[in-house]
Amino acid sequence: MDSIKRARKAILQADMVLIGASNGLSIAQGIHIFADNQDFNDYFSDFKNNNAIKSIIQGCFHQFSKEEQKWAFYSKMYHYFTIDRKPTQVMQQLLSLMKDKPYFVVTSNIDSHFINSGFDPHAIFEIEGNCRFMQCETACHDTLYDAEQKLLAFYAKQENGSIPTKLVPKCPKCGGNMKLNIEVDSHFVKGATWQENNQKYRAFLDQAKNKQKKIVLLELGVGLRNILIKQPFMNLTYYNSNVCYITFNKGEIYVPIEIDAQSITLDGDIGQSLSEIVGLNGR
Ligand SMILES: [Zn+2]
Repeated sequence: MDSIKRARKAILQADMVLIGASNGLSIAQGIHIFADNQDFNDYFSDFKNNNAIKSIIQGCFHQFSKEEQKWAFYSKMYHYFTIDRKPTQVMQQLLSLMKDKPYFVVTSNIDSHFINSGFDPHAIFEIEGNCRFMQCETACHDTLYDAEQKLLAFYAKQENGSIPTKLVPKCPKCGGNMKLNIEVDSHFVKGATWQENNQKYRAFLDQAKNKQKKIVLLELGVGLRNILIKQPFMNLTYYNSNVCYITFNKGEIYVPIEIDAQSITLDGDIGQSLSEIVGLNGR
């Protein structure tokens, strides 16, 4: 049986599915955070000119000297990731495969795409944060603030890569600067929701140790160096011989020999692979 048919059969028969997703899934949806491409030039040329930033990821890690520029960049990024983007076929197909099935998502993507595509917000652990939320830059307290309305205002009011000074947000506790709640330094706040979702994820991993159940781990676009997501998946597969580990990626597939028999590798465009799996419907 070929990999697509095996993957479909495993997913359909699964008692529970754990999804792990990283940058490759964003790329499959047309978002290249590492690329200096047409989209980057269309959205972020101000920051390319003013701050010599050449990709979204560089912008996320950039030490802006002006808060006005920092928030202009973040608001553009938020717009690019969410407002200007409808749920893609990739995400819709993934969601359709989870229909009536217990699932949980762990992702290092900060783009809100799982939530915005209709996945259960209570079954998603955004391990490195979400670009919709704001925190104190020095983490003087661990409250997160929903920043959507502010980010939309920053987007609307910015000129030449800067927002008006009067709009720059300040920490309500210490009066210092704010930043997005994404993990770019040691001040990343792991707030109450992060802790709660981490607990849910750990509980799901524990449930998946049950050797009486059919467990599928769907790993989507997780690079070889992303140990954070990959390691627990591989460990679980090794521990439980009833686990089926399905890894989707483009050109970056690696499965240790110890779990090879339980693994299905789909090397290629993630959207294409999902389409083929969903397309087998009824056959
Ligand atoms: Zn503060």
